[in-house]
Amino acid sequence: MANKDYYKVLEVDKGASKEDIKKAYKKMARKYHPDVSKEEGAEAKFKEINEAAEVLLDDEKRQRYDTYGSADGPSGFGGGGFGGFGSSGGFDPRDFGINIDDIFEGFGFGGFGSNRGSSRSSSRQRDTRESTQVYVTLDDVYFGNKVDVTYQRDVECDSCKGTGGEGVETCSTCSGSGVVIEMQRTMLGAMRTQRVCPTCNGSGKTIKHKCSKCSGRGTVREKTTQTITIPKGVEHGVTLRVSGKGSYNPDTKSYGDLYVSMLYRDTKGFEIDGADLYKQEEINFVQAILGDEIEFEHFKKTLSMKIPAGTQAGTTLRLKGKGLPVMGRDGVFGDLYVKVKVIIPTKLSTKQKEILLEYAQTMKEDKGFMSRMKKFFS
Ligand SMILES: [Zn+2]
Ligand SMILES: [Zn+2]
Repeated sequence: MANKDYYKVLEVDKGASKEDIKKAYKKMARKYHPDVSKEEGAEAKFKEINEAAEVLLDDEKRQRYDTYGSADGPSGFGGGGFGGFGSSGGFDPRDFGINIDDIFEGFGFGGFGSNRGSSRSSSRQRDTRESTQVYVTLDDVYFGNKVDVTYQRDVECDSCKGTGGEGVETCSTCSGSGVVIEMQRTMLGAMRTQRVCPTCNGSGKTIKHKCSKCSGRGTVREKTTQTITIPKGVEHGVTLRVSGKGSYNPDTKSYGDLYVSMLYRDTKGFEIDGADLYKQEEINFVQAILGDEIEFEHFKKTLSMKIPAGTQAGTTLRLKGKGLPVMGRDGVFGDLYVKVKVIIPTKLSTKQKEILLEYAQTMKEDKGFMSRMKKFFS
């Protein structure tokens, strides 16, 4: 356990700062948290990440780790024999100033896995979490619209009312706990190991006549649609927890949670950086030279923007507070940056050419310019 390369586990350099390690930890935890991850072996990977963070975020432990090396370090690594790092299993990111709520940023949807401990304490308990994705428009994000999310979940079987059938009895092998405990002799002494009860497969009960509709599960899987409110300003890729919209557990007669990942669908031609928006607007060269006030549609409102006289092509103008709402901060918005594209006309009438030539005559900078112009137009 102690001979892993913790830097590799967290994908950071050996010289990484504490901040870098925290950042890396958050990123990895978000990816592999067993409550939401679909990755294979997520739970083991999550354990590994926590183990690595526990060592690398603790100055003393990190120093010892760095001194004795990783995979090829001396065999004495780990201090007084068995145990070593991470054996306490009690890594809590909060001890290191990591806000676990912003691993998922579950604004308005309740915190981060608050009942995780209890729901995983026994293998008899079912996994009632469901996760899905929803595509949101920039309007949804701006206005905090309600959107429908369609996904699969387990609901109570109406045929057996969740009992699983008739003649339901507590499993005699495991006395209903769903697990069997075995003692094993090892070189380190006796060890207790726990495994899923082979008689009841972890359900904790046996059924004489299984319900034909649900095959004794007590639940059936079906498609459901829930309406959720998009938190204003939610960023692309953030996963939210929706309490009680997961699957049904007939043992506890309660529903688990739903995890919804927000994915931006249409960005209306904006580039997005956090709550700041970037776009381009076209103006003609006379507007650029003389200045003007232009109008454009912006989230169902008309915005006007002053073009100062003498605006150069490619200038970026900032409209303060006209970006997206900042999630979790009521009334706070990012900025809108408008890059000005100056359109040069490609077809001119004779009259327009005359006017431009007349204008050119007033320019003093380059004497040769006028003669070239006249040659060109003649
Ligand atoms: Zn049934
Ligand atoms: Zn059993």
